[in-house]
Amino acid sequence: MSSKETIIRLVESKKDFFAKVSDDVWATPELGFLEFKSAKTLMDALEEQGFKVEKGLAGIETAFKGTWGSGKPVIAFLGEFDALPSLSQQASCNVKNPVEEGGNGHGCGHCNLGAGSMAAATALKEYMEANNLPGTVVYYGCPAEESGAGKTFMARDGVFDNDDIAITWHPGSTNNVWSVSSLANIVVFFHFRGVTAHAAAVPHLGRSALDAAELMNVGVNFLREHVIPEARMHYAFTDVGGGAPNVVQDRATVLYYIRAPKTEQVMDIYPRVVKCAEGAAHMTDTELTVEIKTALSDYIPNDVVSQTMSDVMVDLGPIEFSDEAKAFAAEMYKSLTDADIKSGIGSLKSYMSAEEAAKRVHEAIIPDVFPYKRQPVHMPGSTDVGDVSYVVPTAQLSAATAIIGTPGHSWQQTAQSKSILAHEGLTYAAKVMALTGLKFVENPDLVVKAREELNAETGGVYNCPLPKEIKPQP
Ligand SMILES: [Zn+2]
Repeated sequence: MSSKETIIRLVESKKDFFAKVSDDVWATPELGFLEFKSAKTLMDALEEQGFKVEKGLAGIETAFKGTWGSGKPVIAFLGEFDALPSLSQQASCNVKNPVEEGGNGHGCGHCNLGAGSMAAATALKEYMEANNLPGTVVYYGCPAEESGAGKTFMARDGVFDNDDIAITWHPGSTNNVWSVSSLANIVVFFHFRGVTAHAAAVPHLGRSALDAAELMNVGVNFLREHVIPEARMHYAFTDVGGGAPNVVQDRATVLYYIRAPKTEQVMDIYPRVVKCAEGAAHMTDTELTVEIKTALSDYIPNDVVSQTMSDVMVDLGPIEFSDEAKAFAAEMYKSLTDADIKSGIGSLKSYMSAEEAAKRVHEAIIPDVFPYKRQPVHMPGSTDVGDVSYVVPTAQLSAATAIIGTPGHSWQQTAQSKSILAHEGLTYAAKVMALTGLKFVENPDLVVKAREELNAETGGVYNCPLPKEIKPQP
């Protein structure tokens, strides 16, 4: 039997086990840095599969790793498992129906992500064990991708420094290797403190923190014209100082995301946003405290690893979805709005003609593999895989676990994250990742090439955007 067939069999033989791991994590949806039950489910599974488990990485209770083997190369698989607020939803159900009103839900499929990456790590380990191949397989449990950027803290602490190749995936609606970068991002609270007063009787005695926050936002809205057009600045009030208009607000907090294609560009814009906040504090005679919550570097796809992964996918061919999965996809498709379908066509248009995309969107689940072609563009969001990609040559694939047009961070995604589609998609992703890892175990030259490419891109330097003193917070 070829190594390819053996790996496929190894993944297939444990697909029910890892589908259950995914479903168990789905059933305990927890927010960033609070994923205690989900982390335990994954650590127990790692132990059961023969990995040596260490927890509390980078001082984070829910960050952990499982290690097997010794020596080089070190092949790392990244897993995530955090959920999102307010996206609770019954599994495999095509009408909105929360398990718990207002509860958390796996609306980004990270339950699949953590289990799929572990399935890959396990298959590669078993293959290496059976064939006496030297090398180390590491699985990382990376918390808080959504809100806290756990991997940035882990990268800042040197957790990934010994790894040669990093492999990961994200549940999606197409099968392809990520060929674009993502935006760097700094996440910052601006806290204003003033003085409360009766807003009608003695307003002159009050100093409004809410005024300060509003003036800061006005300043930043003018600043937008004078930063690079690719930059994105968004804000949300996390504290408006109370709900009574007749009480001058003595406190207000606004949370900013400041994003741009490269970390250096974010770091150019950030002090200018701080100046807007300082100006607003001056104008209103209030006090300002600036608190960085987290930060994320841009993602650098490594061409050597990404191309290897893409070749594996092309060779493996499309996902052979079962009839049951196709029937479920057709049911889920009924939940999409016209706008969702239009956005599905939009994503398919990256791979086919507009005409074909408009036709194929109605198939709901797209099994095809779309080969890798590096594109000099960035996707509009951010991911903490970026920080890993500065330290280790990294590739990330998307595998279809949901129907095309599924809105990101939606109840439809939660519904599909525990479904036959998710199980079949994560099994496929595991095969791709395990086979990709094996290519690097078998070809030390490729490992060297991947590292050379990374060094050429970064000069071998990773400047973590997160200051040393910042601690992870939920
Ligand atoms: Zn996600």
